[in-house]
Amino acid sequence: MKIIADTGTCVGAGQCVLTEPELFDQSEDDGTVIVLNDTPEGELVEKAHEAVNLCPSQALSLQE
Ligand code: SF4
Repeated sequence: MKIIADTGTCVGAGQCVLTEPELFDQSEDDGTVIVLNDTPEGELVEKAHEAVNLCPSQALSLQE
């Protein structure tokens, strides 16, 4: 599984970072998402799903 982030769609809400700071960070310039680990394993897989579901702009998706 791979996390795909569309920084063009991201509105910098930071919901993903709040959900799992081990997977996501935000750009200091414009607040858009930075994926720290795009191939999560173990319990981080569930967190990745959670972040995708919570993102208000549908900027995150998962490639199986
Ligand atoms: S939750 Fe979505 S909109 Fe907010 S920073 Fe993360 S990817 Fe961007």
